[in-house]
Amino acid sequence: MNLLDLDPAGAEKTIGAWVSAHGLPRYRTEQIARRLWQQPVGAWRDVSDLPATLREALDRDLPIVRLEVQSMELSSDGTKKFLWRLADGEMIESVLIPSGTRRTLCISSQAGCALGCVFCATGRMGFRRNLTVAEIAGQVREIVLRDPTDRPTNIVFMGMGEPLLNWPAVDTTLTILNHEQGFGIGARHITVSTVGIIPGMERLRARPEQFRLAISLHSPNPASRIGLMPVEKKYALGDVIAEARRFGRRVTFEYVMIAGRNDSDGDADQLARLARPLAAHVNLLPLHPGGAPGLTPTSGNRIRIFAERLREAGVEAVVRRSRGLDINAACGQLYVEMAEKRRRTESAASPG
Ligand code: SAH
Ligand code: SF4
Repeated sequence: MNLLDLDPAGAEKTIGAWVSAHGLPRYRTEQIARRLWQQPVGAWRDVSDLPATLREALDRDLPIVRLEVQSMELSSDGTKKFLWRLADGEMIESVLIPSGTRRTLCISSQAGCALGCVFCATGRMGFRRNLTVAEIAGQVREIVLRDPTDRPTNIVFMGMGEPLLNWPAVDTTLTILNHEQGFGIGARHITVSTVGIIPGMERLRARPEQFRLAISLHSPNPASRIGLMPVEKKYALGDVIAEARRFGRRVTFEYVMIAGRNDSDGDADQLARLARPLAAHVNLLPLHPGGAPGLTPTSGNRIRIFAERLREAGVEAVVRRSRGLDINAACGQLYVEMAEKRRRTESAASPG
């Protein structure tokens, strides 16, 4: 039983049952529950306001499961990249990006990714496995535990993996992030990024909270999009846009700029025709290294012209600054080298 896999209501119920089974006063439930996410502790033995015997019993019956930090790298721009080792040896990354009073944490939802977008380093790793709730929300928890002044104000599901292909775990994690008895982060400060997994978008839409949705578009027409994102075959651009319209809240389009692939004036005009009716906000991202060789970033000047063309067509477009590039922590660069090395050694060692 891992309490950290439950949502706050479920955890409270489980703790409540345990507390009453042990003949303890009811107020203990709240005192214990708040140590899961509100004031996290690494182990029950560290909770000094609980009796020692109770702490021991908790560590025995309802132990707190941790993510092990394998490394932490600090970029010259203040961005921090955390590499976590999971219980089965899989590795995932989170990136903390400070900006003024804001601290945005970019979290992973899967180890690797099955979707193989050609420009993305995680895509090149292939799919390893889905993360559990405790592993996704645990990325936030561990960072708060290490340094309370790092407590994230914003969360983006833009690390490794496709969150909407791990919906049950992401669903519960969203509750933990937002809930008063969880991390208490406002829904408008939590963004789920997807390539357009339509069933997942429908589920996110069904939630009453105002979570934000970012759609990784990367091309305004199906023929060229399919060359960048194989998922276009399964969930076609037109259907993704239609679902974005049904979402009812303003969405963001993510658009990685790749020279000669999606950065012409014609592309800008087509993109504007998709974005304007939705009042979608467009984030233009300079292409970062790590994807397929042979892709070239669009020049800074060309990105500015593209952005200006969108604005002239009445679309809100922002060129995103690359953060954490010096430590390979930028969007799309997350990739666990050790997994690759291990696979290489394994295949080198295999007979034949
Ligand atoms: N799978 C989800 C969320 C993780 S990817 C998705 O694709 O939306 C997070 C963001 O990183 C996406 O917007 C993605 O397009 C972007 N990204 C991927 N590779 C990139 C690269 N090489 N350079 C810049 N951004 C990249
Ligand atoms: Fe997966 Fe997103 Fe990378 Fe595409 S961009 S391979 S969906 S993580």
